[in-house]
Amino acid sequence: MFIDTHCHPYLAKKKSQTQQFDNFFAWWGKALISIATDTHDSEKCIAFSKIHSQIYASVGIHPCSVEFDAESLPYFIENLKSKKDLEQIVGIIEEYYKKYPDKIVAIGECWLDYYWIEDIARKNNTEIDLLKELQKYYFRAQIRLAKKLSIPFIIHNRDSWEDVWEILCQENYGNFVLHSFTEDYDYALKCLKKFPDAKISFSGIVTFKNAKDIQKAATKIPLKNIMIETDSPYLTPEPLRWKEENEPLFVKHVLDTLIDLRDEPSEEVSLQIYKNSLDFFSLNL
Ligand SMILES: [Zn+2]
Repeated sequence: MFIDTHCHPYLAKKKSQTQQFDNFFAWWGKALISIATDTHDSEKCIAFSKIHSQIYASVGIHPCSVEFDAESLPYFIENLKSKKDLEQIVGIIEEYYKKYPDKIVAIGECWLDYYWIEDIARKNNTEIDLLKELQKYYFRAQIRLAKKLSIPFIIHNRDSWEDVWEILCQENYGNFVLHSFTEDYDYALKCLKKFPDAKISFSGIVTFKNAKDIQKAATKIPLKNIMIETDSPYLTPEPLRWKEENEPLFVKHVLDTLIDLRDEPSEEVSLQIYKNSLDFFSLNL
């Protein structure tokens, strides 16, 4: 019994969407959540959610998919600053939600990603700090929208934890998941102390032999806070790493690894993780 809480079926290069969904449900996968990274993807995710009762969607905006040029970016940001209701800047995803409240179960993924930021700044001939500011505005706006709609949001963090944490504390809405967790136990502990209902989601990375810190975190984080995902088509788990393109069904390898790592009986681990996902996304299965 498993749910893939984070996948991108529309990004797969080698496997069709039908193939991915058929495999998943043929092996008793219970539900999968197709996660958007921008408005274009949001529409694809909504379309998937209509073809199967156990497929759900998230909707979100990636700030780097917002059209800007180097000259206009400072004015664009100035304009954002003047917005009283910051969530208005992501109004389009609110519209999506209003149309399909039964199938859209979260906002996101909400990005703060500084890993590529130098490249993007160079390509657009703009400053890193401005790009960071842009990302922060969209991140905050999506949190406020999630709060307004009382639904969870999904955090994508790469090399940006300090800013993520600052904004989380300021916005103070603890209904979120840290997706594809790649930090250590202390980081998770600090987060769960302040936001006890937050979820930590493990991807295929937890199955990698050298991921010792992540595995240690997976043994110690309270079971009630854990979810699992593939982030497919990326991050194929062991034993299929390097062999196959990732797909939602492979979330069972992530689950197997967690069962191995945890002290609780295997049934308890899989049932609790399953329940966590149902509760977090308010799924009626
Ligand atoms: Zn993702």
